[in-house]
Amino acid sequence: MSANSDPRDASPREMRFATDCIHAGQAPDPSTGAIMTPVYMTSTYVQPSPGVFKDGYDYARSKNPTRTALESNLAALEKGAHGLVFSSGLAAMDCILHQLRAGDHAVLSDDVYGGTFRQIDKVFRHLGIETTRADMTDLEAIEAAFTPRTRLVWLETPSNPMLKVIDIRAVRGIIDRKADSTTPSQGLREPGAGPLGTPLERSILVVDNTFASPALQNPLSLGADVVMHSCTKYIGGHSDLVAGALVTRDDSLAARLRYTQNAVGAVPGAMDCFLMLRSTKTLHVRMQRHCENALEIARWLEGHPAIERVIYPGLESHPRHALAARQMRGPWGEGFGGMISCVVKGGLEPARRLLERVRLFSLAESLGGVESLIEHPAIMTHASLPPQARAALGIADGLVRLSVGIEDVRDLIEDLDAALQPA
Ligand SMILES: *Cc1c(COP(=O)(O)O)cnc(C)c1O
Repeated sequence: MSANSDPRDASPREMRFATDCIHAGQAPDPSTGAIMTPVYMTSTYVQPSPGVFKDGYDYARSKNPTRTALESNLAALEKGAHGLVFSSGLAAMDCILHQLRAGDHAVLSDDVYGGTFRQIDKVFRHLGIETTRADMTDLEAIEAAFTPRTRLVWLETPSNPMLKVIDIRAVRGIIDRKADSTTPSQGLREPGAGPLGTPLERSILVVDNTFASPALQNPLSLGADVVMHSCTKYIGGHSDLVAGALVTRDDSLAARLRYTQNAVGAVPGAMDCFLMLRSTKTLHVRMQRHCENALEIARWLEGHPAIERVIYPGLESHPRHALAARQMRGPWGEGFGGMISCVVKGGLEPARRLLERVRLFSLAESLGGVESLIEHPAIMTHASLPPQARAALGIADGLVRLSVGIEDVRDLIEDLDAALQPA
């Protein structure tokens, strides 16, 4: 259960995941007994006396009760102590990158979300943050990417769109071994100047857990310092909002992040927080169905004559299937997520035909909603990567990515089957 000290977090003891989805962080509204957390549409709070606030509620950029309930809920789902919710996943990332100083270095997994790479490469590089990308399925490549100024290791697992599975515990081990060889950061060092007055003294491990969701994987329990989500995806789950989150167990890191969020200002609206609270109540049942449907479709695609290759961590043919089975698991049992990538035989034209012919799958970017989506990484989500970089990652022109929804899987398979018929 979350260690947030908000009085709303009234759950009496450690609960199981499904129960936390529904209850963590939420108690009946103290003023009316309303069972659902109200949407606190307010920008400020009346003070009984100057500088005296109720429960720290002074101004809504700093704190909003609907958001507080959601932050406690997400902290519980990720087995953390502190949750922070942002106006987007990339705003959550920005809050992490603001912990670095000019001259610091970050190691990123090689096929991170395109917007993640863009933020580091096009925004923070100009502020003096250096980056190395590494294939993190290769532990030696991670070690080789380290420098004495490395302060951030950022990875996604499963990754997008190649669904690489990275061993979070092993990466933690490397960071710990490298801890002795770090040199101090330069620049401002003003103890007493607030949480950001001192630089980070060691590398922090951040895991983007968007693809797995907390239903399948809790990176903090595997050694991550911070878990990040684009809540736009499975946590929101209904393709109706954009939001992000960070969860940590580390009190001092949480203080830095909260200070930064308030100073920079990328906070979510109360209505979006309410929608996410409604969404997390069904996260466990949604994820179970996403996983069941995706496994069935992946197996079906693997036997289809128009498909060259299927990439899904739940298939025995996935190179890291054993690791995925160890690292990812739902409260119901095995679960490998709702994302599948596959290569259509014949390259771009047959892939384009599939995307144009589907009726039930919608051709759209994004993922993680209850409805099934299909997209073409080389043209759509990963178009910002240079062609050589795409090729190096294996993003072929025939590669198609499916976000499998929770419709009846027979309808989904019939839709794909019709769209894959020869021209
Ligand atoms: C969508 C996404 C992001 C960015 O999140 P936004 O909410 O769009 O800002 C980051 N990481 C992954 C894995 C994503 O899928």
